Amino acid sequence: MRTPINLVVLGPPGAGKGTQGVEFARRRAIPQISTGDILRDAVKSGTELGRRAKATMDAGRLVDDELMIAIVRDRLSRQDVAAGFVLDGFPRTVAQARALDGIMTGRPPLIVIDIAVPDDALVGRLARRRVCGQCGQATSVDLAPGSRCDRCGGELLQRSDDTESVVRERLRVYADATRPLVDYYSDRSSFRAVDGNQSPAEVGSALADAVEAVLADRAAARVAAEETGA
Ligand code: AMP
Repeated sequence: MRTPINLVVLGPPGAGKGTQGVEFARRRAIPQISTGDILRDAVKSGTELGRRAKATMDAGRLVDDELMIAIVRDRLSRQDVAAGFVLDGFPRTVAQARALDGIMTGRPPLIVIDIAVPDDALVGRLARRRVCGQCGQATSVDLAPGSRCDRCGGELLQRSDDTESVVRERLRVYADATRPLVDYYSDRSSFRAVDGNQSPAEVGSALADAVEAVLADRAAARVAAEETGA
């Protein structure tokens, strides 16, 4: 079996975490776990979770830590994550990151990649973002000026929280609650930042290179430890 990759993709709203996470997971054939998607599915199906989360999501705020940690703990207890996973949208607070460290005890350590994008690029990106109502693929009106998804022909919609006022609140919440995670992780050898202000293909290859660099460092550290021990 290939080395399991337990990847966390960090970055502000609109950085391309979803797009990159889906692609990376597809290539490695591991699950991509988006807490935003889990919540949106719950809202769509009208479950208790969806009813609890909807107003918070529509306001651009964060759903409470306890609930999010329980969702992720449950999802990461499933067998399909044994070969690795990509987490998108979690953790979003230091409390969630601490809980995730607890959940990861005894498992291959996290690799954390921050997709860094300057604030002024994000508002426009989010205003132009569209999501296929059928297959969920995200795109931009720049790439898909029509109203149909180029993958499945489904209708392209704007997320209800991609309106300008909600976007500004999400960016404020990001700066307040989530950006501190970069400090939380940045002194780990498994942390890398990649430049998100380039084309999706370029971000994708920077992300893949960053993951390989972490794995190479890890392998070198293992060899060094074995030599010291020998
Ligand atoms: P996303 O698709 O990741 O942008 O998430 C959409 C919305 O879902 C966020 O604006 C939050 O309201 C909620 N959400 C998703 N993940 C989390 C999380 N880890 N903690 C709290 N709220 C979350």
